[in-house]
Amino acid sequence: MSGRYDKPRTLVAIATYNERENIPVLLERIHGLGEDLETLVVDDDSPDGTGRLLDELTAADGRLHVVHRPAKLGLGSAHQLAFLYAIRHGFDRLVTMDADMSHTPDNIPQLLDALEDADMVIGSRYIKGGTCDYRGYRMFLSVCANTLARLLLRLPFHEFTTSFRAFDVKTLNELRCTKLRSRGYSFFMETVFRLHSAGARISEVPIQFRDRHTGVSKIPRFEILSGIAKLFRLTASSITGRNKFKPAAVIDDKCCYCGSSFMVEIYPASGSEAEGREGAEAYRCSSMDHKNTPQVVQCLQCGLMQVPGKSQPEELEALYSDVEDPTYIDNRAARELNFEKTYERIEPFLPETGAMLEIGAFCGLFLAQAEKRGWRCEGIEPSRWASRIAREEVGVEVFTGTLDDNRESLRDDYDLAIAWDVLEHVPDPYGLLTGIHRMLRPGGILCLSTLDRHNWLPRLTGRHWPWIMDMHLQYFSRDFFEGMLARAGYEVVHVTGYTHYATLPYLWRKAAAQLPGGFAALLTPLARILPSALIVPVSFGDVKLFIARKHHDADAAPEQAPDGLGFSHRSD
Ligand SMILES: [Zn+2]
Repeated sequence: MSGRYDKPRTLVAIATYNERENIPVLLERIHGLGEDLETLVVDDDSPDGTGRLLDELTAADGRLHVVHRPAKLGLGSAHQLAFLYAIRHGFDRLVTMDADMSHTPDNIPQLLDALEDADMVIGSRYIKGGTCDYRGYRMFLSVCANTLARLLLRLPFHEFTTSFRAFDVKTLNELRCTKLRSRGYSFFMETVFRLHSAGARISEVPIQFRDRHTGVSKIPRFEILSGIAKLFRLTASSITGRNKFKPAAVIDDKCCYCGSSFMVEIYPASGSEAEGREGAEAYRCSSMDHKNTPQVVQCLQCGLMQVPGKSQPEELEALYSDVEDPTYIDNRAARELNFEKTYERIEPFLPETGAMLEIGAFCGLFLAQAEKRGWRCEGIEPSRWASRIAREEVGVEVFTGTLDDNRESLRDDYDLAIAWDVLEHVPDPYGLLTGIHRMLRPGGILCLSTLDRHNWLPRLTGRHWPWIMDMHLQYFSRDFFEGMLARAGYEVVHVTGYTHYATLPYLWRKAAAQLPGGFAALLTPLARILPSALIVPVSFGDVKLFIARKHHDADAAPEQAPDGLGFSHRSD
């Protein structure tokens, strides 16, 4: 019996950012090692055109696979993507290495030989036969980092910080070793630690490491600090026995933005299913009980953190149409002040007056503010209760339902569109942005607020960030959102922190509800003695206000979602 399928299929994966010079040479040398080696390059939209060059090379050589990502998403997630790619595409062995020629392809056969008796092989500079031509400070840093990792993590290895490794793909799949949280270089240390604690057989082979010829250090200082922080966290978890390997959930879903199936779980769902995810009650924005949190995953291809489609409630539209929130309207004075202040903040970017549409207008309080200033206002709102209040009590034109439900009644030349705290609630935010785009005149303005998870508060609180709740399906970062606006045909004009205004008792109850049961019960009643006339501004920077303009130029019309986004990958 002979034939190509008898041989193990091997994938060599490389992450690139501005490697136009090195990548053709490196790929040629890898492919020169043998017919059976295939390569995967994950490119983070390199400004130097590495991505375009890769597309040309792919056309010429079927052994090369390329995944384009729309932004610089980091080494850790590129390597995680390579793990999933190797698993999904049926490879038997995976080699990972740097793109800058610091790793020599000549070492690949030694790594693969050693993989015969191991689940993971580390290419090591610091065992007999290994070399490293670092000098001075970089050598000192590298030796210190690896010695410290060896001693603190109590692992019998000498190398933790290079990417030059070989993996048995079956082991990666069985251990579902995708639940790695590090972004940058500390990813490599974490991989050794997690695979070792999961019982994988790991060995080391010597490699010859060359300092990259340009001589420019690629390791930013914050990487060093975050590496140290990571090392101490891993050490603590090994001492407390919390290093037990928990395999990641398999995410059988597609990203709502880019359509990629390379997604990993960031947070599992928490809270009691038995008590029920209590229907429309949980979808009131003033609800104090958002203790249930959804499963949150991250797309490794575009970076969007989201609740996957299969974990979203089935009757989402029905839930929103049933929402009733008397507390909201009881706090009317604070809400009005909130919208008055918000209007003042966006006013410098608006035309004098004109026709305006608000998506998610709720009780119409913002529309009322805008109408006072001369705008001709219309709104749409899925909640039957809120849209009725808007029409009957506030006296503004609000249609019940979604944008799609009401397309017939709406114009296609609004001067201004508003969407306060809406985009994080919808299953297809890109579809909503392009939908709004179609209803604006060229040059029309879109103002919206949404979440920014690249902020100190979510970084500090992790899964306890108060905005992680069942009704939020999307967790954007500012950079991601700006990229999505640009792709949808808008020019970003201004971005700033969004300030909410609320009464002191309301804020007190909201903050107390975040605390564990006993504390919440103890502290919540104190809200009654706080002066309800006192309205205070709240801004942590984790909610951002975006002001964007629809491009005048017709060529900048939105691209199709999700398949036509231009960063899908070429698969076999
Ligand atoms: Zn995606």
